[in-house]
Amino acid sequence: MSTSGPAARTYLVRLGGEVTTKSRRVRQRFQQKLVQNLRDALTAHQVPFRHVENQWSRLLVRGDDSTAGVLRRVFGVQSFSPIEGFAPCQLEQIVRVGTELYHARVQGRRYAVRAHRSGGCSLSAQRVNETLGAALNPGAKVDLDHPDITVHVLMTPQGAMFYHQVIPGPGGLPVGVQGKAVALISGGFDSAVAAWHVLRRGVELHYVFFNLAGAAYQRLVVSVAKVLSDLWSYGYRPELHVVDFEPVVRALRSDVNPKYVQVVLKRLMYRAGCQVAREIDAQALVTGEALGQVSSQTLKNLAAIQPAADLLVLRPLVGLDKEDIIAQSRQVGTYALSCKVQEYCALVPEKPVTAARIEAVDNEEGKLPPGLLAPLVAQRRVLDLRSLDISELVVESIYIDHIPPGAEVVDCRPEYQYEAWHYPGAVNLPLEELIDRFKHLDRQRTYVLYCPFGLQSAAVAEKMQQAGYEAYSFRGGTAALRRWMQQQGIPQDDPLLPDPRD
Ligand code: ATP
Ligand code: MG
Repeated sequence: MSTSGPAARTYLVRLGGEVTTKSRRVRQRFQQKLVQNLRDALTAHQVPFRHVENQWSRLLVRGDDSTAGVLRRVFGVQSFSPIEGFAPCQLEQIVRVGTELYHARVQGRRYAVRAHRSGGCSLSAQRVNETLGAALNPGAKVDLDHPDITVHVLMTPQGAMFYHQVIPGPGGLPVGVQGKAVALISGGFDSAVAAWHVLRRGVELHYVFFNLAGAAYQRLVVSVAKVLSDLWSYGYRPELHVVDFEPVVRALRSDVNPKYVQVVLKRLMYRAGCQVAREIDAQALVTGEALGQVSSQTLKNLAAIQPAADLLVLRPLVGLDKEDIIAQSRQVGTYALSCKVQEYCALVPEKPVTAARIEAVDNEEGKLPPGLLAPLVAQRRVLDLRSLDISELVVESIYIDHIPPGAEVVDCRPEYQYEAWHYPGAVNLPLEELIDRFKHLDRQRTYVLYCPFGLQSAAVAEKMQQAGYEAYSFRGGTAALRRWMQQQGIPQDDPLLPDPRD
């Protein structure tokens, strides 16, 4: 048996103990799913030489050096070993190849040989241990209890395979064997880690994000979901459902007692999440709630939020400390992005209720306009995370074709152009000045920048977005802005002046 090409490598992949103790039928299903997920993972990461062979008690994956990085991320893989050599299942051949492979490597170290028999090979494992063990001497010391290096020989009907490393995989169950759920994802440490735990237990996960804070926030959350999708979700195409919740925030602010805003908001998230879940035939919601972590997550508040869900709610982090969750987010790969998300403080009332009574919450929720959620859920955007290119999202969300109410308009042109004409109420911060100073601007506001063509201001808007601001560039620059003003009937103080670009 040999692999093709210099970088080709074969890996022996072991399944988790939980899978191997299942009934034959269940095990077959799990194992087939793992094979399918591994193929999908290798394809998604463009690993060449791929071939996954299902050998019942183990899988053999033929790939190259980069395959190991993929195997670490496919749930259901308990551990794996790069195969260092093959030999026919005969004692002399095993000893010859084993010596060639490991003689130099065991010198001066304590070592052990461990042969394992699998299926029709008649050779005794003990004989292989003794004979190969002796052949690797002299100059090395056999130590079966605390070896520095263990030479493994797996003897199968197809031949013997040699390896010495056993690399841990992520464990868990193959994604997809436990059905489908919807994770409410806010981009913070908790919801991403919660999603990871549920994926790890074999659930096909899709995401719902309620946008409360504009495009820059959305981009970060999409990036977090993309990490979960690209690094941990194989065998299916994860979707991110983006629901515009700004109308909900406005209604909460105007109709609901501020003390109850957080709890009612969570209820609305549960309701909308369940609606999406039902539409895509998912059986549960997943949240990043941890008991007592923030004021809306006291036992009483969780109990007051719970009735809004008519599906099972999974809270995998319920008993974890924040420090542990943050440490896990590094392993998941979402830590850096979630750090940025923390800077968004969307909606924190001064003194939120910590022991909400269900009737009081019902009463507050009842003050909201009926039918508030349905159109927002119906108009949600569904993103295919696998094919999504984050940079496309940047371009799409940098430009704007109107001035939203309450936005701060920034004229990024030189002062003399500003003096000649500017959007009513715009402040003048020429580009270099804006680049130096935007970090001092109020983070709670929305900014629309304009310059002659809208291109340089787009570059600054992008920097501002990366720093967590909601900032846009007016598409098409001053000429387009003037046309838009005309359409809107906004008076221009010098309509006869030539376009400042001329
Ligand atoms: P996280 O750390 O996950 O951002 P949090 O500590 O900010 O959460 P909460 O705001 O109380 O805590 O949110 C609790 C859970 O509710 C989150 O873990 C997430 O599952 C869900 N959630 C909160 N905000 C949103 C949102 N904007 N979109 C989708 N789900 C959300
Ligand atoms: Mg939290």
